[in-house]
Amino acid sequence: MIPQCTARDLAEPSGAVTVYRAAWVMPMNGAPIANGAVAVAGDRITFVGSAAGAPPGLVVDLGDAALMPGLVNVHTHLELTPLRHLLEGLDFAQWIRTLTTLRRTALSDTTDLQVGARIGIAEGLLRGITTFADTSDTAAPVQSALQSMGARGIVYKEVFGPDPLQCDTSLALLREAVRELRHGASDAVRVGVSPHAPYSVSKALFGAVAGFAIGEQLPMAVHLAESAFEEELVTRGTGPYADNWRSRDIDPAGARARSSVALLHDAGALRARPLIIHAVRVDADDIALLAAAGCAVAHCPVSNARFGHGIAPVQAMLDAGLAVGIGTDSVASNNRMDLLDEARVAHLMACTQTQSWRAFPASRALWHCTTGGAQALRLWPKLGTLDVGAPADLCAFPLDGLAALPLADVSDALVHGIAGSAARLTVASGVVKVRDGTLIERTQHTDDRARLRVIGDRLLAARRRLAD
Ligand SMILES: [Zn+2]
Repeated sequence: MIPQCTARDLAEPSGAVTVYRAAWVMPMNGAPIANGAVAVAGDRITFVGSAAGAPPGLVVDLGDAALMPGLVNVHTHLELTPLRHLLEGLDFAQWIRTLTTLRRTALSDTTDLQVGARIGIAEGLLRGITTFADTSDTAAPVQSALQSMGARGIVYKEVFGPDPLQCDTSLALLREAVRELRHGASDAVRVGVSPHAPYSVSKALFGAVAGFAIGEQLPMAVHLAESAFEEELVTRGTGPYADNWRSRDIDPAGARARSSVALLHDAGALRARPLIIHAVRVDADDIALLAAAGCAVAHCPVSNARFGHGIAPVQAMLDAGLAVGIGTDSVASNNRMDLLDEARVAHLMACTQTQSWRAFPASRALWHCTTGGAQALRLWPKLGTLDVGAPADLCAFPLDGLAALPLADVSDALVHGIAGSAARLTVASGVVKVRDGTLIERTQHTDDRARLRVIGDRLLAARRRLAD
């Protein structure tokens, strides 16, 4: 039963208390609560428990639904949203080359990048995602998109430079970019740095950026141990990336390290406790190094599968005590942004990898989409659980669809049954963003969709020219 309140009432936070009731409340720091409620005042949670004990307030009855913390997507590239479906049928090296070319020649306008980021955030909000940990080259368009849409996140500014001689220049550019980004930052939308990957960053630059991040108390993220091509470059100085370096008069210098993780360790970059994006090609020694340094991992199973990179050894990481969150990566490699679907794939791949039906069960996978993600981003205990005093970031999914019935276990239903469904409710910082699978703010979104079609046509034409 929907209460007598309008979308406008729901969209504007006030000092009044709103009580969200649902058949199931999933606090993530305790057992699911049947016939539960979460009360919100302003941008904070003020009550979590049985609906019978909820304080008075404007009641929003979500009916047969599961209400839980807003989902935390620990790895996105929001500005690349317009490249969805345009990079199919390419191996990883070709994919990166084509993406880089299209990005430079046909997706460089700041407004277009903002449109792409807003469309990506809208897609996430519609799937219950309220926190986005995003890495990007330009960063500012994503930052302004997160701020304007009231979503939460970390904007990791990427830095590149495979030639050690570029190190000082790259670091100076990063310092300047961070200085600018700090003007647009807030408690909800933070600034971070990301030395991109071992095939695009020198060992010297890894060390220098880590020192900068530590000194400035900035979170750091690195794409690492993702592909066989990367491993070949790092451990033998051969392969397509090494060829690319030589064509640019950069010496791959033979074996740089035993592994990509060892390269970061040798560079002193693990001191910054980076978020390690992917971590597919890691062994027990690598995992021990990451755990000892206090790093966290962004697990992106669909993107890794799409390129044939392999399956990250999640169970071994968890056994070592690493914080692990789940990320979708960009829609240029995933095609969709749906964290429940990502959790389902993470569960199935963990079972396949370990040949055990017990691996990474649905309840665990769901936890990694919320609390685990917040821990990986070091935003916990503020985020990721329904708790009194926590920011009011919530999402709810319907449990009355056929795929959820009969309801035996709520976590199983969410991960195995209704992944792919639109959220019945998404609330970010106390403000309703999605209701019954529809964005509350329609005007900007309608304009963005129209602009995305124009951007998409331009990119498709550029892609066809590249293929000729
Ligand atoms: Zn990525």
